[in-house]
Amino acid sequence: MTKEVAQCQCGQLQIVCANNYLMHGQCSCEDCQRRTGTPTSFHLYYKAKDVEIKGEFKTFTRKAEEGREIEFIFCPECGGSLAFDIPWADDVYGEKMTGIPLGNFTNPKIAAPDVSVWNCYLPTWFPNVVTETRRMAEQPKTIDDIKLVLRSLGKL
Ligand SMILES: [Zn+2]
Ligand SMILES: [Zn+2]
Repeated sequence: MTKEVAQCQCGQLQIVCANNYLMHGQCSCEDCQRRTGTPTSFHLYYKAKDVEIKGEFKTFTRKAEEGREIEFIFCPECGGSLAFDIPWADDVYGEKMTGIPLGNFTNPKIAAPDVSVWNCYLPTWFPNVVTETRRMAEQPKTIDDIKLVLRSLGKL
């Protein structure tokens, strides 16, 4: 298959993905809203071993659910948000995973999201892009809850 390449606005920071993504998620949490400057955002989840980061980057780490931490990488030149570590990946899949904001691929052929979380923060006028069963007001918090949702989506 052809390799998907994600990049920031100025183009000095790139991520080359050697394999298909495992999941496509929509997130409307307050942190993603502030990071992206828009009320909702879409992210492709890859196995970390399948992505190669090229270029200079800086990191920002914040607290996530259940005391976990989440680390973001961004371009120090243009500020673009390029990728983040999925904080529950080790506990669920036994390996690291990397989330990459969909817009960095600028590929209109990528399929619609598998799941949508934190819809409680989405503006009421915003259209739904996934069906009711794939839409959650918040996000699953414990590892067991996450596994349950992933199994229901056929992703575990
Ligand atoms: Zn840049
Ligand atoms: Zn979020």
